[in-house]
Amino acid sequence: MAVPIRSCIACRKREDWTDLLRVVKVAGEVLPDPLHLLPGRGAWLHRKCFETAKQRGSFSRAFRSDERLSTEKLAVFIIE
Ligand SMILES: [Zn+2]
Repeated sequence: MAVPIRSCIACRKREDWTDLLRVVKVAGEVLPDPLHLLPGRGAWLHRKCFETAKQRGSFSRAFRSDERLSTEKLAVFIIE
């Protein structure tokens, strides 16, 4: 069975999705979804690309959002 391939929203590198962290947008917040359980549109990134994604506005672009998305909970998850 083929492993699904996803692109990191920050560096655009394509990876097996096991190497990327899934995140979803919930009410203006970007939340980590390590177990792939949360519904909704997901985006994928390397943990090491989090800062890059934040600086480049990759989250807003990935979720096609004009509002500024909070990444605080995601930051805590990634740093721990
Ligand atoms: Zn990346």
